[in-house]
Order: sequence, then C-alpha cells, then structure tokens
Amino acid sequence: MNVYDSEQISKVLKPLQYNMTSSLEKADLIIANTCAIREKAEQKVFSFLGRVAHLKRKKPNLILGVGGCVAQQEGSKILERAPYLDLVFGTHAIGRLPSMIERIDAKKCRIVDVEMPEGIDESVFSAYTDYNRKVTSFVTIMQGCDNYCTYCVVPFVRGREASRSPEKIIGEIRSLVGSGIKEITLLGQNVNSFGKKEGLCSFSKLLSFINEIDGLLRIRFTTSHPKDLSDDLIYAFENPDKLCRHIHLPVQSGSDRILKRMNRKYSRDYYLAKVDKLRNICPDIAITSDFIVGFPGETEDDFNETLDLIKTVQYDDIFAFKYSDRPKVPSALFRHKISEQDKKDRLIELLKSQEYYTKKKNKVLEGSTQSILVEGLSKKKLQTDAKNKHVQWTGRTSTNKIVNFISNNDVSLHNENFLGKMINVRIEKALSHSLQGIRVK
Ligand code: SAH
Ligand code: SF4
Repeated sequence: MNVYDSEQISKVLKPLQYNMTSSLEKADLIIANTCAIREKAEQKVFSFLGRVAHLKRKKPNLILGVGGCVAQQEGSKILERAPYLDLVFGTHAIGRLPSMIERIDAKKCRIVDVEMPEGIDESVFSAYTDYNRKVTSFVTIMQGCDNYCTYCVVPFVRGREASRSPEKIIGEIRSLVGSGIKEITLLGQNVNSFGKKEGLCSFSKLLSFINEIDGLLRIRFTTSHPKDLSDDLIYAFENPDKLCRHIHLPVQSGSDRILKRMNRKYSRDYYLAKVDKLRNICPDIAITSDFIVGFPGETEDDFNETLDLIKTVQYDDIFAFKYSDRPKVPSALFRHKISEQDKKDRLIELLKSQEYYTKKKNKVLEGSTQSILVEGLSKKKLQTDAKNKHVQWTGRTSTNKIVNFISNNDVSLHNENFLGKMINVRIEKALSHSLQGIRVK
C-alpha cells in the first residue's frame, strides 16, 4: 500500500516538474512516506529524518516532508521533534500535495495537513502513468478499514472504509495496461467487503470485469479478511483464468481465546473450513498468512495452538510479527503483556516451524513446468556453466513463487528480451525462498 501511495505522490508532483532521483544529495524535495503498523516501522522515520537533516543545512531551499500513517498519527508533533521539517501530510492529503508544495516554495512556510475527509479523493488516482519497463503494478480499490481489530492502528490512521467505483478502477487498470503493465495487484485492507457500503458490485464481480481487460495477463489481490471470505470469491478460483492461484489469508493466531481478544470475529474451526473449501475448489492454490506472536495474555498453550495451526494448514509461506502496542488501540491497555524475550523466542519458533513447509512446497515443484510472468533480469544477472554464460531472468509463478531461470543453450536466444512475457520454465532446483529453472518451449 505504501509503495502504491509513493507512486501516487510522485505522479501528482510531476506537473510541478519534480522527477524521481535515487540520490538524496541531488533532491530538491525529500518525502518520507511512513508506516505506523508496528513500533519498529515508526522508529525508522525518525532515524531517517536524522540522517537527512544535514542536507537541509547545505541546501536551504530543499523541502523536507513526512507523509503517510505516522504523519497522520502524530501531526504537528513531528514538526516539534524535527524542527527542520517543512511539511507533514496525512494519508488523505496526497491530492492536496501540489498546492502545499507551491505554498512552501512561495512563502517558505511550514504546513501540517492531516485532514481526513470522508470518501475517496479520485484526483490522486487519475494522475497520468509513466511505467517504462515495469511489468506489475498495484491498484488501490478501497481505502481505510472498519474492522477495529484490537491491536491495529489502521482504522485510526487510514480512516473509514471507502471503495472506489468499479469504472474508475477499470479505467486506471486500462491505462496501466496501455503503458505496458501485465499484472496488477488489487489493494484493500479487506477486499471482501468491497463496495458493500456504497452498494457497488461485489468483489468477485469486480474481478470478473477486470478479467475482461485486453492485454492484462494476471490479477492478484490482497488482503482478504477470513471473516468475509465469501463462497463467491472462493468459486472465483474454480476457473481462475487471469486470477492467480494464490490467496493471502491472515489468521493472526491459532487460539480461539486470542482471536476473540483480537476481535477477529472468526474461530479457528471457521478458518480451517475456509482453507478446506479453497483447496477443494482449487487444489494447487497457494495459501499464505500473517501471524502476531506475543499478543497480550497469549499463554504457552495459546501459542502451541498457533504452532499446531501451522502444521494443520501447511502454508506456502507466512509473515510473522512480534506484537507491539500502538497509540489509541484497545490492546495497548490490555493486561498480561508478554516480555520482549518471550515474543522473540516465539517468533523464532514460529518461523522455524513454517520453514519446513515452505521448503516442502517448493520441493514438490522440482521437475514440473511452470508458467512464469517475467519481471526482469534477476539480481544475479549471469549464470555460468562449463560452456556458456547465460543471462538469468526472474519472474513468478501464478502461485507467487519467485523463479530465476536461464534460457536454453541456443545462443540466438541469449539476447532475447523476455520482459513482460509469459514463459514456460522447467523447475530444476528448489531453494528455501525461490526456485531455479530453465526455459522450455
Ligand atoms: N488488513 C489486513 C492486515 C493489514 S496490517 C488483515 O486484516 O489481514 C498487516 C499485518 O500487520 C497484520 O496482518 C498483522 O499481522 C500485523 N500487525 C498489525 N498490527 C500489529 C501490531 N500492533 N503488532 C504487530 N503486528 C501487527
Ligand atoms: Fe487492521 Fe486488517 Fe483488522 Fe482492519 S482488518 S483493523 S487493517 S488488521
């Protein structure tokens, strides 16, 4: 979501002649787009600001700004903590950014804008696109969240849930496809409740409209809240066509007691039934999840139930986080906080128990042929064997596994450009977090 917001920020600033630079020294404007989901993410903002403060002294016309969730949460307090800052703007202020920058340029003033008007500001999304050599892109379909999980800061910093109109979403995707994008990931905190408030079409209907867009090869989405995972959406995986065979279904905990304290509104059994149904409809669907360890009051027994859930589901991969208190959230006031050391130990144990299944899921793909959407050259661009140097490309399977591959020994193919193409790759070797393969016809 933050990557997408940063892209929108750079797009709305284009008309003011701001172009992206990778050099902080060369920049005339530096914006830290921030995340407040965990305390660690928030700490990073202040250490980054500390590192760029000296640039402002060297170049007085440099404009320094902080945007995103920490800006929304802290508002003018950030200006007090970082007196050299010019601008603090919240999650609903991206559309107003150009006029703020113009005012700072003209009047050398400092601005704080953390207004959160209801609804969607479409001006942020309709900016023109400039996506040379990119294959995949995010598209926000809804903002905010109304779920109020007891640990989560999102409803406070991103506001009430609001969905964009299907026409606008489709228009944005068409223009992305026009500039070369082949795969889109639809973004929302709870895509299953898309359009419900506004009386728009259902999420699965939206998927079927997007499926019709010529030139688009793949559709992904995130995140799907288990409580709202409808049969409609599960059946969308029956004949998925452009929809990729992957679902991120954050469970957070395997213990009913903790799920209740988290206000997740589903039970372990309900969750497992959804997983079964998904696998019945689409046997090779990849399932990934998020976990929080050390939620206040989490006992050893609760944690063991989470470990047991990992064994039962056998996820393709997981993200796991140590619980951290956030401002305003109910769980910050819950008693029986877990010590840092216990949280750390539980995190290590959880990740370790998942490691086996991640490897196992990769290993079964050895020898199979997978259809890969090529995203570019791999980090290690060249592979050398006894005879040849091969260019190494990277892409993903429909199930979202990273595949690095080389073309075959036909020299004429070595210089072929695979970027943005669907290529068949035979998987030769499974590594812990990626697969290696060779192109086949
Ligand atoms: N809307 C998504 C989650 C978005 S936040 C959903 O409901 O699934 C991404 C992840 O951050 C969450 O799934 C959760 O695992 C983690 N997270 C959120 N608040 C947290 C907190 N206070 N401490 C630790 N992890 C947290
Ligand atoms: Fe946060 Fe996701 Fe819960 Fe919304 S559904 S409150 S974003 S964890």
